[in-house]
Amino acid sequence: MPLGEIGWLRGGACRSSDPELFFPLAPSATQEARAKAICATCQVLTDCRSYALSAGEADGIWGGLTPEERRRSRFPLGWRSPAAT
Ligand code: SF4
Repeated sequence: MPLGEIGWLRGGACRSSDPELFFPLAPSATQEARAKAICATCQVLTDCRSYALSAGEADGIWGGLTPEERRRSRFPLGWRSPAAT
């Protein structure tokens, strides 16, 4: 789905923020914390997070989660069964 078609995105707190905070070329703990602080104030956080998890967004901060946090949410530790022997 093109991002322009996602209505709730217009209510995102990140709309007036530096895109580099949410899609950094070189991620850092400081950048992540600043982006997450903006997400924490966002009125569409739940919609954003649900979308990113269901769409499998691989890059950037969405719904207050980093790509790694989203991966862990979709595939929690221990989800994989031991290989059959
Ligand atoms: S939750 Fe974060 S990334 Fe999503 S729209 Fe809001 S501010 Fe932007």
